[in-house]
Amino acid sequence: MKDIILYPSSWYYNACVYGFLEVLDHGLGTNKVEEKILNTDDGTARIPGYLLGKMYTPLGQLDGKFISISELTNLAWWWILLGAERGFLNKTIREKWKAGDSNSSEIMGAVFGNLLAGPASNYRSLGQSQWSDSKKIEFLNNWFSIDKEEVVKASDVHCGFCGTAFNISSQERYIDKFFTMSMASNLGLSVDGFPNLNWDYNPNLPVCSVCRSQFLCFHFVRKKGFFINTESLLINWHINRLLSDKLQKKRGPVHQALMEGMKLDPQLRRTLGGWGMQRMEMIQFNGDKVEYFQIPPHLSNLFLIPEFSYLIGNMKNKLALDYLFKGRHEYFQEMIYKSIRERLSGQSGKDPEAKLEWGDVNLVLRLYQQIRINLSGKGGMRTVDLNRLSKCAAGAPAFLKEEKSSLVFRLLELTRMGKKEDVYHLLLRAFIAESKPFPDELRKAFNIDDAALFKNSIYAFIAGLSGHGSDIE
Ligand SMILES: [Zn+2]
Repeated sequence: MKDIILYPSSWYYNACVYGFLEVLDHGLGTNKVEEKILNTDDGTARIPGYLLGKMYTPLGQLDGKFISISELTNLAWWWILLGAERGFLNKTIREKWKAGDSNSSEIMGAVFGNLLAGPASNYRSLGQSQWSDSKKIEFLNNWFSIDKEEVVKASDVHCGFCGTAFNISSQERYIDKFFTMSMASNLGLSVDGFPNLNWDYNPNLPVCSVCRSQFLCFHFVRKKGFFINTESLLINWHINRLLSDKLQKKRGPVHQALMEGMKLDPQLRRTLGGWGMQRMEMIQFNGDKVEYFQIPPHLSNLFLIPEFSYLIGNMKNKLALDYLFKGRHEYFQEMIYKSIRERLSGQSGKDPEAKLEWGDVNLVLRLYQQIRINLSGKGGMRTVDLNRLSKCAAGAPAFLKEEKSSLVFRLLELTRMGKKEDVYHLLLRAFIAESKPFPDELRKAFNIDDAALFKNSIYAFIAGLSGHGSDIE
């Protein structure tokens, strides 16, 4: 058999390839996928012909035991086994499986029923539970076969995903050869995921059998709850496996796990390097919802700085993370202002932007400062040390530090409006009234030319006044 080359494409396709490679990894054994299939240096995957031969060989007698599904190919059986291992079974069989006394026919029936039969299954109604074993085997072997395409010389039909020419015989079912809800139920349900509108309304997207083999592996990815996509199938393989391990230990938003990983894992930083980050997409699956994030290209280099990933790794507020990963960090200032006001007033409203806890206020202040400085492209931008600034607030006049001090609310409003001189005079008067020296670090804040960075520093000072200043080292 000829080698098959899989080229990286859209996130959905790549996610399916990832699931498919997991099936092969399960069947072929440790490291085989990396050593034999992903050992290319151009981001593609190459399945060598001899492995294909092995994949399409029928099981025959398994472990010397006679089994009723000996006609099933290795590949289909691996797909069933991984499905069983990942819990795509009904309750009765799951218990038997765990106890080790389910037979191969039962396992095939249960996984088949769970994934392919019925309107609620992952691949809606592609199959039916009441089919006989031999009919199920025929379906699976046929679905996972790719050898037939090789004989096609000329055809009017080209796969909508990889461009391969192939034949569709009149006996074949529409749902087996076209990209429909049966092949990809998730796409029809996506809210703001990009493939929805592009694909869902296009009923004439033919799918060759190489591609459809991949598409039947999406459930493995969806169950993990996320997928990280880059332009390299090898990087996808490494990074998603690495993060699966991390997220299994500790649940949380995937972008945060990614940043934590980058912070702690020099190998991951190296693997990704600059170019991997340039086109990185993060997709999260929550029930029927698909959330899509792309690392904004102008931020991608920042994510490689350990300090930056540290700040993100510690952030608890999900909205702030969403803003960051959607490139909307300009919303940060409003969030900081609203959150400080809500914290100081002690009144809890409904505005989601006002929900930063003090710890996150400080993280967002620092993130914003870094982004602003880095994006300005200007060297030597005037700025202040936010840590020192919020610490010097400890020595501020007592009436500024009082709880619910009306002066502080006035300070907050003036800052928000960017009234630098008024802010200065208010603070100066306060320090003079108590005969305290005006702190140097605070004075520096008034030398900042950039209006947004000026606001950012005074917000940090106000956070410090309330005793909740930055203690991030
Ligand atoms: Zn194709």
